[in-house]
Order: sequence, then structure tokens, then C-alpha cells
Amino acid sequence: MAVIGLGRFGMSLAGELMRTGWEVLGVDADEQLVQRHSDALTHAAVADCTDHEVLRQLGIPDFHNVVVAIGSAVEASILVTSHLLDDEVPNIWAKAISHQHGRILERLGAHHVVQPEHEMGERVAHLVAGRMLDFIPFDEHYALAKTLAPPTATGRPLGATAVRSRHGVTVVGVKRPGGHFTYATAETVLEPGDVIIVTGETSAVEAFANLG
Ligand code: ADP
Repeated sequence: MAVIGLGRFGMSLAGELMRTGWEVLGVDADEQLVQRHSDALTHAAVADCTDHEVLRQLGIPDFHNVVVAIGSAVEASILVTSHLLDDEVPNIWAKAISHQHGRILERLGAHHVVQPEHEMGERVAHLVAGRMLDFIPFDEHYALAKTLAPPTATGRPLGATAVRSRHGVTVVGVKRPGGHFTYATAETVLEPGDVIIVTGETSAVEAFANLG
């Protein structure tokens, strides 16, 4: 994997990739930043990636996955992404700092566009306003949430509580206090204090999580 831009987002991403066993080439125009992080990466290079020739010399077009983690330098982010598209990198992930930036990257043809501040802000809003412990929206109307089992879902097998038909959500996982997550079946009996993972329409997931 190659990560261009070793700011907070780029380095968090690169660090997690390294932890999960990937080899990562990290590139940034800031020499001090590269020096600081070089031990944490398989390879690190100082370069201005808006220069197409430099990108090619670093062998970046040969990578299957390249992350453009340049945010505030919008022009650079767009230019680097277009070089990678010209070189037909199969999976280009690009970070956007605004809707407009994201739209340009999508129109250019970036395969995956993420807007971390915006997405995290939306996600945290659901946690602040309700009882959910975690919330992941998949598209505008569908979400997955971690929450405490509401009383209506406890004490009887999930099949008998009719959670799916009554509340429009599916319980997919359960964790007893102090235990690990396991998948839930129709026979699973939830107890008060259990943490559960539920999926469904966003409004149904929210309503269900707030039942307790
Ligand atoms: P974050 O908010 O995640 O810290 P920034 O957008 O502030 O993200 O930082 C992105 C990084 O991208 C910075 O470290 C910056 O030096 C680097 N960067 C910006 N332009 C280029 C470029 N043309 N080539 C390589 N790295 C760049």
C-alpha cells in the first residue's frame, strides 16, 4: 500500500495498515514529518507528489492500493489523484475535506472518497444524542449500531421477541458483560446489560436503541 500525505489521517491509516501486517510506503513533502515517522513505516520518502515524474520514480503507479491523504492542499490532492488515475492505479482512495472537494475527486474518478471529519461528526452526533455506544451508517438509510439491549428484547429467545417484525431491526451480535461478541440466533436470549449489534433502517435502529 502507498500512503501519500503523512498528516494525522495519513499516519493513523498507515499505522493501522502496518499493525495489520501490510507493507506501507509513506510519502510526504515535509522532510521532518517523514523523518519522524520513518521507523513506523516499511518505506518512507520525501517528495512533492504533484510532480508526475517523481510519483513514477517512487514506483507508486505499481501499487494496487494508493491512499491520497492530502487534505487542506486541495489542489495537490486533485493533481496527485489525477496522476494516479492516468497511471491506472486500480484502487485510489482519496481524502476530502469538504463536500465540494469530495465531489471533484469523485467526478475525476477516484474509486473511494472519504471525508473523515464529516463522517465522524455525523457518527458522533448519533452517540451524543441517544443511547448508542457506536454507530456506522452504510448509506443514507441503513446503519449498524452498538447499543445496550433494551428491555423489550430481553428475557426471551430473540425469535420469540419478534424484534425484527415489531421494530424492523436485526440483532446480529451480542456481548455479555466481560465477555466477547458472538453472533446472535433466534434462540439467543438477551439479558439486561448485554451489549448488542443491530442493523436496519437508520430510523428503526435509532428508535430501537432509544427504547431502553
Ligand atoms: P491531516 O488533517 O490528516 O493532518 P493535512 O491535509 O493537514 O491532513 O496533511 C496532509 C499531509 O500531506 C501534510 O503532511 C502535507 O505535508 C502533505 N502534502 C501536502 N501536499 C503534498 C504534496 N504535494 N506531496 C506530498 N505530500 C503533500
